[in-house]
Amino acid sequence: MTDTELFPQLVIPETLAAGPGPGNTDARVLAAFAQAGIADHMQADVLRGMIECKHMLRKVWGTKNTYTFGVAGTGWSGLDALFSAILPGDTVVCFVNGTFSGIDALTVRTRAATREDLKANSLDPKPASATVIQVPHGQSVTADIIETALAEHKPTWATMAHWETGSGRINDIRGFSDACVKHNVMGLVDAVSSLGIEDFAIDDFPGVVGWASCPQKGVLCLPLTYAPVSFTDRYIAHLRENGCYSYVHNPIFEARHWGIVDGKDTAAGSYHRTHSGYAVAAFHEALRINLQHGRAQKAADYAHHEAALRSAVQALGCEVTSNMTSLVVLNLPGALAGREKELVASARAKGFGIWPTLSEPVQVRIGILNQLSEAAITEIVTRFANEMNAMGANVDVGKALKALETHYAAAIAAE
Ligand SMILES: *Cc1c(COP(=O)(O)O)cnc(C)c1O
Repeated sequence: MTDTELFPQLVIPETLAAGPGPGNTDARVLAAFAQAGIADHMQADVLRGMIECKHMLRKVWGTKNTYTFGVAGTGWSGLDALFSAILPGDTVVCFVNGTFSGIDALTVRTRAATREDLKANSLDPKPASATVIQVPHGQSVTADIIETALAEHKPTWATMAHWETGSGRINDIRGFSDACVKHNVMGLVDAVSSLGIEDFAIDDFPGVVGWASCPQKGVLCLPLTYAPVSFTDRYIAHLRENGCYSYVHNPIFEARHWGIVDGKDTAAGSYHRTHSGYAVAAFHEALRINLQHGRAQKAADYAHHEAALRSAVQALGCEVTSNMTSLVVLNLPGALAGREKELVASARAKGFGIWPTLSEPVQVRIGILNQLSEAAITEIVTRFANEMNAMGANVDVGKALKALETHYAAAIAAE
């Protein structure tokens, strides 16, 4: 690029976002974002919007936790705030069964690391006080695994992903909470992929003292808006007593802009950082959509459409190894084995945004975030079958569509 040249305006195409996330942003959320007026972060309606978001978020999470709000940024921003209370030398057990719980454990290890631990391995510290329990890709973290590890180590903290998006596996959140209560451990949960998809209320899991999610998966907001977080009074008391090495991601400071001070709601927030009226408007609309849809109905709709997609890809000869309801993780039929990345790359080049797994073994991931209609699932299945055939699989697209028809007809008959 020479000094006088200017790049043409950036144009980003519309794609079919059929991966683990971000999902297809709802048109109402985009409109709310684009139609927000220019207003600063202390303007009265922006502050009122944040207070309303806080109240809606408590409903979406199913909680009375006062410290429930959004952390500006992505899922990792919320998780960074969640793990902020872990201090060097703290004892912690991390359950890892895929890419995302693996990065959670990396975050936790950097927090638990002493200065010497960081110096010894700055990008991948291994503090003696942090234990990582590795569960193989494709398997869930079970109550037995959790109970055994917490009984042995009796740590201050334990961490787990509720739904591990890397392999599409649901982990035992009941077992995690129960074991945390039994061994007096403070549980921290990455609920990035489950919030807004599964029908659960966090107050039913008293062993978990902190939760973090993300804007752009089940919550259906734009990426880089707000990552929902929620903390119990026990977490906040521990944080107040011990402190943490962050200003921006200290949940006590962060909560002030959402009108939460000293454990109580206040009439309006006070400055923590420059929030965006656009982001607040988008987040507000996304939460309204979630509440209008209803937690139980939304969960049932995901289960229904995931079962349809699952039966169709099985009819194409694929083997499904996931059990999440927003995502299908599969092995291609034998003839295409080893060519997963090639198939995904070819699909993505055509604007069909499916994904490979990021940890081994390589599998294909197809997601249905905000694709809850027979028409949307049919398009996903058709495009996927076409990609398989472009690679010479010679599968019968009609058979997959028939499986979809049967699934949807049975649902109508049952009504
Ligand atoms: C997507 C995801 C993350 C990371 O979220 P970002 O928005 O990319 O920061 C973390 N944990 C889980 C379980 C996820 O699915």
